[in-house]
Amino acid sequence: MAEILKGIDVTSSINSRTCSLVNELRSKGVIPTLCIIRVGEKPDDLTYENGAVKRASTVGVDVVKRVFPVDVSEEKLISTIQDINNDAGIHGVLIFRPLPKHINEARVCNALNPAKDMDGITDISMAGVYSQKPLGYPPCTAQAVLELLSHYGIELCGKNVTVIGRSLVIGKPVSMMLLKSNATVTICHTRTKHLSEVARKADIIVAAAGCARMVTKDFVRDEQVIVDVGINWDDAAGRIVGDVDFDSVSDIVSAITPVPGGVGGVTTSVLMSHVAEAARLMCKTEE
Ligand code: NAD
Repeated sequence: MAEILKGIDVTSSINSRTCSLVNELRSKGVIPTLCIIRVGEKPDDLTYENGAVKRASTVGVDVVKRVFPVDVSEEKLISTIQDINNDAGIHGVLIFRPLPKHINEARVCNALNPAKDMDGITDISMAGVYSQKPLGYPPCTAQAVLELLSHYGIELCGKNVTVIGRSLVIGKPVSMMLLKSNATVTICHTRTKHLSEVARKADIIVAAAGCARMVTKDFVRDEQVIVDVGINWDDAAGRIVGDVDFDSVSDIVSAITPVPGGVGGVTTSVLMSHVAEAARLMCKTEE
């Protein structure tokens, strides 16, 4: 049976660092504050929001919400973001996406001051991830994958990593961050041929396809580390499952993250660490 790379151990260590910073800031009268912008009532957004609010209260970060109906106008969202940019009491912003189809999402995201962009959604934050310049914050889930691997002492330098998924939210940024850690990265997607063979050659697989249990035992071999980013609702099982078929794969590989209980919880801890860091930087600028 593989070693189970539980998110909770990673979360505890990130949270304790965040708590120390938050306490220091609070002692100076700065209350690190996250603003959540949500359009509509999508169950996935609400689940993430509830987790984020809980995590925020654990580490002492305040949360305010701006909630809009699904027919909200693009201009209304942009003017809200401009107000938040000018509000010294809000240090970080999380915008749930995708936004409704009538809204130009890129325009809305890029209205946000990158210094308050906690999830790498502005072009400037993305440029930071791709150019490795200190611009903004990387997407929280991509960073959560790196935090998890680092916590468990999994060496990346010179390792072959196969990333399944090429989205701007996870696949691409996590690939760039792995590359920065000197891994040799192969990015796979829906048009990749012989995906299982490509995956089997890797030392580490990062599955971020959003496709329930697609990584079967044909994709893996012994001594591999598997990081499952997927969060998929399985009607038949009546529960959330990952992109990896945990039951058949965990007997073969050397280490694997569970779903739930893996990368997901680490993501909200990373989000809170970004808010605390943003508050620290803003308070330093004001000094
Ligand atoms: P997405 O749909 O935007 O992108 C999926 C990517 O996977 C695409 O690039 C696509 O080409 C590729 N893909 C899809 N099916 C494939 C297949 N059968 N074979 C090969 N490639 C395939 O999804 P996303 O936003 O990147 O999210 C991916 C998964 O991560 C989802 O399950 C999502 O719920 C989950 N997620 C987890 C967290 C977390 O904190 N753990 C956060 C955000 C998203």
